[in-house]
Amino acid sequence: MTRATNKINPAGIPLDRGNRPVTPCARVCRVYAFHMTTISFTYETDEGEEIEAELPAKFEVCDRCRGHGTHLTPSIGEHAYTPEEFDEAFFGEDDREEYFRHGGRYDVTCEECHGRRVVEAVDVAACALDPELTEALKRYYAKLEDDYAYERECAAERRMGC
Ligand SMILES: [Zn+2]
Repeated sequence: MTRATNKINPAGIPLDRGNRPVTPCARVCRVYAFHMTTISFTYETDEGEEIEAELPAKFEVCDRCRGHGTHLTPSIGEHAYTPEEFDEAFFGEDDREEYFRHGGRYDVTCEECHGRRVVEAVDVAACALDPELTEALKRYYAKLEDDYAYERECAAERRMGC
């Protein structure tokens, strides 16, 4: 007997012949056997009603620190050094080594994952298996876009000195 494995089932959840988990998830979706974690968010319906929704999620290696848990202090990391500047700022061999070393002297705890090395990400594949979750995912994306637009608006206002 071969064990059913596929891309959306990295955790080795026992599947039936139809590739569906033997034990449906009791908490978030009716399809997936379990979730490593979930992401909760609230959204407003067109009628102005606030709804809380939960999406199945998984842990992914943090993009910001690439799984190291630390990254360069933003003031250093976000600065684009010319080769000359770099040599000047990091004069000694030791300084240069520290610059490139993860967890080195110029590193701070990752701002994104707070040192956990992983971040929670919506399990899009699991959402696709359930119409209700697919709907919730759409709401989630719309909310992210709204939040992003709002943040940019605020940043623009700050730049103009409001
Ligand atoms: Zn990180």
